[in-house]
Amino acid sequence: MGMGMPLAVGVWAFDVLESALFTLRAYLILGSSDIPAMSLVMQMKGHNGHAPCCMCEIVGVRIPGGHNPCHYMPLDCNKLPLHQHDQMLSQAHEVQSAPNQTSAEQLALKYGIKGVPLLSYLPSMQFPASFPYEFMHLIWENVMKNLVLLWKGEFKGLDTGQESYELGKNTIPSTYGASPPNVTTDRMACTADTWSFWTLYIGPVVLRHKFTKEKYYKHFIDLVKILHVCLQFELSADDIQTVCRWLERWVLSYEEMYYQHDPCRINTCPVTIHALLHVADSIEATGPVWTSWSFPIEHFCGQLQPVIRS
Ligand SMILES: [Zn+2]
Repeated sequence: MGMGMPLAVGVWAFDVLESALFTLRAYLILGSSDIPAMSLVMQMKGHNGHAPCCMCEIVGVRIPGGHNPCHYMPLDCNKLPLHQHDQMLSQAHEVQSAPNQTSAEQLALKYGIKGVPLLSYLPSMQFPASFPYEFMHLIWENVMKNLVLLWKGEFKGLDTGQESYELGKNTIPSTYGASPPNVTTDRMACTADTWSFWTLYIGPVVLRHKFTKEKYYKHFIDLVKILHVCLQFELSADDIQTVCRWLERWVLSYEEMYYQHDPCRINTCPVTIHALLHVADSIEATGPVWTSWSFPIEHFCGQLQPVIRS
């Protein structure tokens, strides 16, 4: 913020070719990280809140009769009530200027917004369009990891309910070489990069004919097809529409297979599944997923860590 405002106003710079001073301006237009970090920057209540989505006004539900304080998303693909910049900031100001702490907390709970984000003072930032769901963390660190946990029967203590998607702990054939690591037993060694490679190129081969019903495999392959489109270097307006339609369909099938319309299984619907419904919106607002994903910064942090000395 300390840099953003002066750069937006403009700083004097010298053009060597023209031998003249000019006003150099730079505008921050995009913020990107995992969901908790983005919630912090956007001053949102976050993924466990009553209104947990940074992109829309959907309201979460809790597990009936349970003590788990987390909120989960009913997977409603109908027109999502998307947040609008002016409305979000007016709600943020309302929370911040509440007459007392109690009413501030009530408003924060209602809107999912805790206060006015610092970055909102930069006119180049749009809420929430400048903060897309970041593809690397969303897909490779959440959706795929959770799918494998479901197939292993290790997802939050749930059995398969009315379905039969479980593969058993030792039947995902993944130990066939030194690299990449085994996605079922060596989760600590699995980076987003290895999850990406496994999902796109290995999973479709090794999972074939492994499920008791072909529909689970087909559902996984549908996701892989969508991810391949998302990963294109350039996407047309038609591609974005395709991603939108296919992900809506995929989330609805996920709901049938894993949630099974059973409120006791609502924790199969974390905000990361709901967030898939915003991937197309995010691409439309900020460009292909590679423009905002965390691979470069994570790579930089990986290089930085070994050279930090006391
Ligand atoms: Zn949403």
